[in-house]
Amino acid sequence: MPKTALITGGAGFLGSYLCDRFLAEGFKVICMDNLITGSLSNISRLESNPNFTFINHDVSKHIDIKEPIDYVLHFASPASPIDYLKYPIQTLKVGSLGTHNALGVAKEKKARFLLASTSEIYGDPQIHPQPESYYGHVNCIGPRGVYDEAKRFAEAITMAYHKAHGLDTRIVRIFNTYGPRIRKQDGRAIPNFISQALKNEPITVYGKGDQTRSFCYVSDLIEGIFLLSQSDIHDPVNIGNPVELKIIDMAKKIIKMTGSKSKIIHNPLPQDDPKVRQPDITKAKKLLNWNPKIDLEQGLKETIEWFKY
Ligand code: UDP
Repeated sequence: MPKTALITGGAGFLGSYLCDRFLAEGFKVICMDNLITGSLSNISRLESNPNFTFINHDVSKHIDIKEPIDYVLHFASPASPIDYLKYPIQTLKVGSLGTHNALGVAKEKKARFLLASTSEIYGDPQIHPQPESYYGHVNCIGPRGVYDEAKRFAEAITMAYHKAHGLDTRIVRIFNTYGPRIRKQDGRAIPNFISQALKNEPITVYGKGDQTRSFCYVSDLIEGIFLLSQSDIHDPVNIGNPVELKIIDMAKKIIKMTGSKSKIIHNPLPQDDPKVRQPDITKAKKLLNWNPKIDLEQGLKETIEWFKY
């Protein structure tokens, strides 16, 4: 009998790659999504696969599935700053009520549970790079607080289910990720810059652009998450690419790689925008034998090609 994985947020950018990966590993996949930020176009090629089922459902509401489930991968949530500003209550609900419901399914089905957490739980970090042992620096009532605190609660309740109910849990802290299928209007730096560059429109760098991020190509991230799902590590694990760069340098790189005529303009820096971000991946390297393979040049090339169509 093939094992079954329930993937919440399965029609989103990362969720859809997880659907692909678990199907390729011989799983049956139930993809659950309410499509507020996910899209059917991400999973349309899977419709005819007999091992794939899509359920349009908001995981913040009770989840009722009759069949056995072996894995619950909880990836449902708005994840771009403009999305969680647009959907603050849904973001808080999916991280809290949604995580509680997804854990409930895992407990009832005796399934393994994997939570998609985030580097946002470190907030605007005062320790650099960020190891898993860092507790973070988050403004709970700031504009990003709805996402950061929901994910911090999600980690807390996941660990509580592990400790109190013996649930078999995993927590991945995902750092900035990019690649084909990221929404073109997603509002994040790479999709904005590529879309603007391809149209020769101004590139909108927020602030001076000296804030840093470290960008991981999607195939590397999915490999790390799959390895974590097959490991026996219950504590959180950072997955991301530690190559760090300034946002202004990312803008220049994308202008160069697209051969664009775009000029850089500077818009106001959003409140609480983290000044630096870089994963310490010592733990993932050592315990999962994982290392990102795709460099920025290659990853951007693939992504730019995808944006052209
Ligand atoms: N950013 C920018 N211009 C944009 C979009 C984002 O300068 O059009 C900046 C943003 O202020 C942040 C960085 O790029 O410092 C990464 O932002 P993103 O929204 O991609 O993700 P975050 O890491 O902040 O969650």
